[in-house]
Amino acid sequence: MADADLRSLLEENDNDNNIEGVYNYCNRWCERCPFTERCLNYAIGLEHFPDEESRDLNNEAFWQGLHTVFAQTKALLVQMAQEQGVDLEALDTPESRAAWQAREAEVDEQIESSPLLNAAEAYRQMVDNWFRESEEGFRAKSEELTTLARLGVAGLNPEATAISLAEAVEIIRWYQFFIEVKLMRAIRSAINEQDEEPEMLAESGRDSDGSAKIALIGMDHSIGAWGALLRAFPDRETETLTILAHLDRLRRATEREFPNARAFVCAGWDTGELE
Ligand code: SF4
Repeated sequence: MADADLRSLLEENDNDNNIEGVYNYCNRWCERCPFTERCLNYAIGLEHFPDEESRDLNNEAFWQGLHTVFAQTKALLVQMAQEQGVDLEALDTPESRAAWQAREAEVDEQIESSPLLNAAEAYRQMVDNWFRESEEGFRAKSEELTTLARLGVAGLNPEATAISLAEAVEIIRWYQFFIEVKLMRAIRSAINEQDEEPEMLAESGRDSDGSAKIALIGMDHSIGAWGALLRAFPDRETETLTILAHLDRLRRATEREFPNARAFVCAGWDTGELE
């Protein structure tokens, strides 16, 4: 795809069917998303990462695709700025870059010391530990369900149990990193929003609230999924309850830190398109 084609792609997808900004506060789980046909981000992704190979992080095709996206985005931004009479290069002076870097370092420090983020990091590690220590339990469960399926015991549905367990694992693994990443963005945005005009924020909504909301949704789903694992692995009850309690505390702390997050309106998801 040539540089100029990004603009063509944007124009091509600038239609009434698209939901503007639907990708801003989604869970990035495109294969389960009802809005793939209405999402510009999905369309662009399909263009640059059309097959399995190009979506594989271990494959050069992925990094090549990513490089192309960044290069095209930069070229398009420069072009759009020129059209608006803005000379980006003139704005990018050594002084402005140094000021920006100093400011970013300060913000990074604040984020790193955030108890919320530390709790999210701890959760991510707890999940890894739990799965590592449960390998034997999963093997035993798989054998148990296979035996039950073979025996065909009336009133039992081992296939359904296996599917719901796999679903619980997939959900937990999907949100394990997502929660931390979205909380990091929420905290960063909240710091940056301190310098913004309240009218502007009122008009566009606070990115901090939107990001916190999607993190909270990830926690809600994960808590439900942990409930399924709690029932399936009674011998891991103590460890599972510890994680559940930690995640619930993180959820409550996030709600306290971002009291308006739950009410944030996400384009597409909260504006009636799902009905
Ligand atoms: S809105 Fe849906 S299709 Fe678009 S990026 Fe998010 S999950 Fe993927």
